[in-house]
Amino acid sequence: MEMIATARSIDAARCVAERGVTAAEIDRSSRESFLASLPLAQASNLAPFLIIALCLPYLANWRLMGLMLGLNLCTLAGMRLVAVRLAAAPAPRSEDRCWRIYEVLAFLAGGLWAAMMLPVIGQFGHDIAAMFVCVVIVVTIAVTTMVVASQLRIASAFLTGVMLGLLPQTIAYMQTIGPIPLVATIGLAAALAGLVHSVRSQHRLMVRTKLENRLLADELGHALEAAEFMAKRDSLTGLFNRRAFEEAANKIRLDPSAGPISLILIDLDHFKAINDRFGHAAGDSVLRQTADLINRSLGPRDLVGRSDGAVARWGGEEFLMLLPNCSELRARRVAEVLRYGISHLKGRDWPEDLTVSGSLGVAIWNPSDRLERAIANTDEAMYRAKAAGRNRVCLFSDTVRQENVG
Ligand code: GH3
Ligand code: MG
Ligand code: MG
Repeated sequence: MEMIATARSIDAARCVAERGVTAAEIDRSSRESFLASLPLAQASNLAPFLIIALCLPYLANWRLMGLMLGLNLCTLAGMRLVAVRLAAAPAPRSEDRCWRIYEVLAFLAGGLWAAMMLPVIGQFGHDIAAMFVCVVIVVTIAVTTMVVASQLRIASAFLTGVMLGLLPQTIAYMQTIGPIPLVATIGLAAALAGLVHSVRSQHRLMVRTKLENRLLADELGHALEAAEFMAKRDSLTGLFNRRAFEEAANKIRLDPSAGPISLILIDLDHFKAINDRFGHAAGDSVLRQTADLINRSLGPRDLVGRSDGAVARWGGEEFLMLLPNCSELRARRVAEVLRYGISHLKGRDWPEDLTVSGSLGVAIWNPSDRLERAIANTDEAMYRAKAAGRNRVCLFSDTVRQENVG
């Protein structure tokens, strides 16, 4: 059993490796985790707004800075709204449109953060508040870039906005502030682009690993289910094996609503002769057809109409059925139906003269008795059927009665 499970686990792992995780799946999952992290990131984005607002009284150009702050806050609010829409988006198409809007807003936000340099850029070098605001802006740009780095289009839009806002200022004010800010801005662009690349690669690797683990867990779950199923089944017929039957029987015995429990043992007649005459493969086919017939007879919509019992391939050409809430009389009727069905079995590839019959024994299982005892009784009834000429049903109670009379 362990061997089967191990083999299937290896198969499952191989299957994951072969199937792999697609780039589209990584994109989808990456967007989901991005959206999940956005509320916190957007809330913490309020901190630089607050710090700059506190600096406003110390800035010469505070009106312009106030206006920029207001505009930037509006953009942030817009991004929040779009993010909420995205998180609840039902249709892929509307989701796509929202992502495009989010990218435009990211571009605007980048431009506005860069534009917030405008009120302070003239005071570089001689105003400490202006320098402080400048540092806050640069740090915010760097942190925001990291936050959105996993989404390439958004990060690119944001950085493009930043650079389109910063570069013209550093060029326009070069006379006052010298060339260093321009060089620093270009260096910043390169550094942030590199940062986006490495954060994004790491993030995608993480998402890929997470998805592969999930896939593997699913496959292993299925493999485990299949292995459990196999452990309980006979490989030729798919019916319960002995151990599974005994487990099921003991469970049914403990069920107070089980009522009278009947056992039916079916033994195919002269099965050895079928093998000898038509070959082992034909014999296997007979066993499978018989198992199918029994299974079908136990279906909820069938004549026998039971699906709450258990049925096993008990031996080579023996099948054992357990029927709860089934009196001996009813079990006899079920057995007769099966006997008739077996004697009319026909397989698609069977030779014309291949005919099958079975001898059936029926006994009631008194729950205070051991299961082995009840099975032995059923076996005895089945042997009576054999002795009486085969292709018939015998009740254990009749054999007892006859012995008593005898
Ligand atoms: P009886 O009417 O008295 O039951 O005679 P029988 O031939 O059916 O009984 P016997 O016990 O002599 O033979 C059972 C045969 O079932 C012998 C064995 O080769 C065959 N058998 C057991 N398992 C399988 C199987 O999985 N496939 C096939 N094809 N034959 C099997
Ligand atoms: Mg037998
Ligand atoms: Mg037999």
